[in-house]
Amino acid sequence: MTSVLIVFDRVDEQLTGAQAELLAHGTALGSEVVIVTGQLPANGAEPLAVSGITGVLTGETPIHAPDPALAELVQTAAGELQADLILGPDTPDTVDALARAAAALDTGLITGATGVTGSGAATKTVLAGTWRTTAQLSEGSPLIATLKSNTTSADLPAVAQAPEVVELPVSASGLVEILETTEVPSTGRPALTEASTVVAAGRGVDGDLSLVEELADELGAALGASREVTDAGWMDHSAQIGQTGVTVSPQLYISVGISGAVQQKAGMQTSERIVAINKDEDAPVFEITDFGVVGDLNHVLPQLISEIRKR
Ligand code: FAD
Repeated sequence: MTSVLIVFDRVDEQLTGAQAELLAHGTALGSEVVIVTGQLPANGAEPLAVSGITGVLTGETPIHAPDPALAELVQTAAGELQADLILGPDTPDTVDALARAAAALDTGLITGATGVTGSGAATKTVLAGTWRTTAQLSEGSPLIATLKSNTTSADLPAVAQAPEVVELPVSASGLVEILETTEVPSTGRPALTEASTVVAAGRGVDGDLSLVEELADELGAALGASREVTDAGWMDHSAQIGQTGVTVSPQLYISVGISGAVQQKAGMQTSERIVAINKDEDAPVFEITDFGVVGDLNHVLPQLISEIRKR
């Protein structure tokens, strides 16, 4: 594989973990790797200054995803660079742009992939993570794939000079106008998909998040949840981990009062260490834990928090 495009709807001054993963994956696969992005930060292509990135293509005016102009930019770039592979993060805005680009280029899109092989096949898990599959385009080119975060290494190649930025005219730009932006109040905790430790709450917390929040804050961890918790409105839907939520793969995942249904496991089973606290010794979560505590979370968590504070 020679020519790879990596599509980011926007680049900020600091790359996200998902963007770092894509740069690491793309530069390992291609000899020419070009970033296509709707927006660059004030310091231009500086955040993309890593070895293996050969250029950056952006619109003459910033594109606010999900403006179809991003798809148009990808289509133009794919034609000019004779791209063999187009990669992007598995986010709604990027999936939207790459689906439009795939239709325009008469090729296929594989979403939710966990990686792409050197021979141009995409790997992904299906049926809530119970099967790993390898998929290939039966016809069409280039292969377009969106990658789930936390599924490949995020070890960036060496720092290099900032790549050259080329601005292309984009006719459809302006179809989306941003009227207002509202900053989500910060919880002070790390983002769920970026955190090295995640504490996840299940229905067992019975609507009281105080102990899981205390544990998360002691550990500097992100707070996530099962679908029962987000459906009940105890936490925002963005906190849902699992098949229909986000995929996390932290160094430490602490599951509290979660039964461990297959759809929940699908979003956390690749975590490096899994600790579970559940009062039911037969809970399926214990099938995949490195360390399990059978007990009432209202008794276990205060002791755990107190032990952590002593250290
Ligand atoms: P429950 O299954 O009710 O388990 C609660 C657990 O808490 C029990 O094991 C119980 O023993 C324990 N408990 C209770 N009280 C205490 C206590 N005091 N101390 C310690 N332990 C206690 N689910 C997801 O999480 N993520 C998804 O993305 C997702 N997607 C889905 C997609 C589809 C198509 C479908 C059909 C379902 C999906 N689900 C998903 C739902 C999933 O099947 C389960 O229903 C859900 O994960 C259960 O959440 P839970 O473990 O919090 O609740």
